[in-house]
Amino acid sequence: MPHRILDDYTKHYGSGTYTVEHYDVNLVVKLASNHLDGRATLLIRALEDLNEIELNLNGLKVSKATCQGRKVSVGKKHHRVVVSTPSQVKAGEHIELQLRYAGNPSVDNSLWGEVGWEELTDGVLVSGQPVGASTWFPCNDHPSHKSSYRFEISTDAGYRVVANGNLISHRRAATRETWVHEQREPMATYLATLQIGRYREISFDRGGHLVAYAVPGTDLPVRGAFAKQGDMAEIFEKKFGPYPFEHYKIVVVDDELEIPLEAQGMSIFGRNHLSLDWEAQRLIAHEFAHQWFGNSLTPDRWQDIWLNEGFACFSEWVYSDQAGIMSLEQRARAAYKMLDELPQDLQIGDPGPEDMFDDRVYKRGALTLYALMKALGDQTFYAMLQDWTGTYQHKSVDTNKFTEHVKKHALGVDVSSILEQWLDELALPDFPA
Ligand SMILES: [Zn+2]
Repeated sequence: MPHRILDDYTKHYGSGTYTVEHYDVNLVVKLASNHLDGRATLLIRALEDLNEIELNLNGLKVSKATCQGRKVSVGKKHHRVVVSTPSQVKAGEHIELQLRYAGNPSVDNSLWGEVGWEELTDGVLVSGQPVGASTWFPCNDHPSHKSSYRFEISTDAGYRVVANGNLISHRRAATRETWVHEQREPMATYLATLQIGRYREISFDRGGHLVAYAVPGTDLPVRGAFAKQGDMAEIFEKKFGPYPFEHYKIVVVDDELEIPLEAQGMSIFGRNHLSLDWEAQRLIAHEFAHQWFGNSLTPDRWQDIWLNEGFACFSEWVYSDQAGIMSLEQRARAAYKMLDELPQDLQIGDPGPEDMFDDRVYKRGALTLYALMKALGDQTFYAMLQDWTGTYQHKSVDTNKFTEHVKKHALGVDVSSILEQWLDELALPDFPA
C-alpha cells in the first residue's frame, strides 16, 4: 500500500490510519559508544480497518516486532518501518505492538536543520521539533496525535536523565543508573524529550514545581538568569490562565546552543543563554509561553505553526510590558517596522514547509494577536485567551477553531476579516490603531 500523506509539510511523517494512546519507551544508552538498545511498547487504536502499521524510525534497526504477543514481519521504507498485523484490525480496536531496536542514534538532517538525538560534549540532547522523535523511538510522528508516555532510561552511572513528566523511580547499580518518568497529560511526539548529562538539580523556591538541571559549578549563573522565572509565571498565569502542567524543568546543557528548545513541561537552554540581557530573557519567556501555546494546545497540522510561534512571540511582549521593560505597543511597533522592511511574500497562515520557522511567522503572528487585542479591548482579549487555553487544554487546535473561538468573544467585531488580513493576505496590513 503506498504511503498516504497526513501532512503536506512533513510528507514522510505520521499516519492517519491509527493513533497511539500510550508509548512505553525502554532504553539502555551507552554514552561512550553512543549506542542505544530499545524496546518500545505502543498501545495502538485503529482509526480505520488496517492490515499494517507504518511507523517512523530513523537510523535504528528493528530486530524483532510482536503484535498482541505474536511475532510479526517488519519491512523498511524511507524514514519508516511497516509492521504487518497478524490479522485485520477493525477501526476502533486496540492492539499492542512491541518493537525491539538498536543502533547508534544520530540527528536527522531535515529540511529544518539537524533534529533529534544529538551527542553533546558530555551527554545527549534530543530536539524533537518538528521531525526528530523518530531518531530515538518508533512513533506515529505527527502533532495531531497526542499520547501518554512512560520512559525507562538506563545509562552510565554519574549521569542524570531528564525526561518529560514525573520522575517515578531511580535505581542505582554499580555502573548504571535507571530513571523512570511518566508523562500522563497527552503529549505530541515532537515534544517528547530526553536529556542526559552530569546534571545536578537546582530547585527554586516554588514548591518544587520549578527545577533547573545544570552541570556542577553553574548554580550562580543559572539562578541569576532564571531569577525572573517566578515573576514570569505569575504574569503568564494572570494573562493566559493556569500553568498547564505539574512541573517546569529547565535544562541548561554545558554546550552552546544556537536556539533554546521547547519540550512538554521543559525547556532546554545552552550555557550561552545564561544572561540577564533582554535577548536571553525574551527567549526564556518565549520557551515558557510554549507550555500554553504549543504544548498544552498543540497544532493539528504544521501549517498552523503561527498558533505556537505567534503566541510565544506575543508572550515575550506581554512579559516585557508587565515587567516594565518596554511596553507592548513599543514592542509591536518595533516588530512592525522590521516586517515592513522585509519582502511581503509570506502567508503566515500557511507559510509552506521551508518557511515554517521564518521569523516573519513569529513577528506577524504576534502582530495578529496585537491587532485582535486592539479590536477587542484588553479585557475581552485576555478573557478570550484564558478561555482558549482552558477550553482546549491538552488538546489539538487549528486556525479555524481559533477563529470560531474569537468570534464567540467578540460580538460586533469583524474577526474573520482581521484574521484574513493578517494570516492569509501577503501585504502587511496597517499598524493596528
Ligand atoms: Zn518558539
